[in-house]
Amino acid sequence: MKKGGSILLQIILILFLTVISQIGGIIYILYCLVLSLLKKKIPYYGHLLLFSCFYLICCLVIVPPIAKYGGRVALPYGSDAMIKPHQIGTVLLNRHYVRPALYQLLEEVSEDMEAKYPDMKISYLDACFPFINQFPLLPHLSHDDGKKIDLAFQYERDGEKTNKNPGWLGYGVYIEPTDKSPSLNRCLSENPIYDGGKYFHFRKYPAYTLDTKRTAAIIRTILSKPSCQKIFIEPHLKTRLGLQHSKIRFHGCHSVRHDDHIHVQIY
Ligand SMILES: [Zn+2]
Repeated sequence: MKKGGSILLQIILILFLTVISQIGGIIYILYCLVLSLLKKKIPYYGHLLLFSCFYLICCLVIVPPIAKYGGRVALPYGSDAMIKPHQIGTVLLNRHYVRPALYQLLEEVSEDMEAKYPDMKISYLDACFPFINQFPLLPHLSHDDGKKIDLAFQYERDGEKTNKNPGWLGYGVYIEPTDKSPSLNRCLSENPIYDGGKYFHFRKYPAYTLDTKRTAAIIRTILSKPSCQKIFIEPHLKTRLGLQHSKIRFHGCHSVRHDDHIHVQIY
């Protein structure tokens, strides 16, 4: 490949890594700098392996203490942790950072839930990146300051309680309304990508049903914490879960459907 084409490809790779993981682009630049200093010739597959190791060490070992110094903490991801990521990709792409106040809220909520339902685990989806306010975590434009996180609902699978969630992504498997939902219909007609998450799924998940009791319990517990500023869920779910609280707001049609996750944000 010509040198110009190679540079363009590298720029595209750096931009892509930056968009999906914030620091992936910088890690790639550092990796190239280290290699140029070492002046070693490495085969293509060697680069893949070396960069993967370099990236993992940076993300899992070096970044968390630096982010903490800057005011954001990484959420746990071990299997015995208080809350767990729906999928490990959230952690590998640095999308699991929050402010200490939100960390504390999640810790308190998970402790309260564990006391009530010992077999239950709360799953988190996208939170925020480790650094810089106003750096959005796409596609969630508002997840840009460490104060927001999306949590998964609780489900039953084939009639049994489960800590798993339908869908590999955690988003896009919607709980359809059981009754008329004017706001949902209005948003679907006004915003063509309002339910865009469904395109990331290639099959249905009929075995999963919403565990209304446990999902409502999580939301009520979050709402009871003074640091909670607001929660977004689809209005038809608010009715179905029997929730009445001034902090449960409608996210607006410019956003995306919120009957596949709970959006939580703090002051
Ligand atoms: Zn959100």
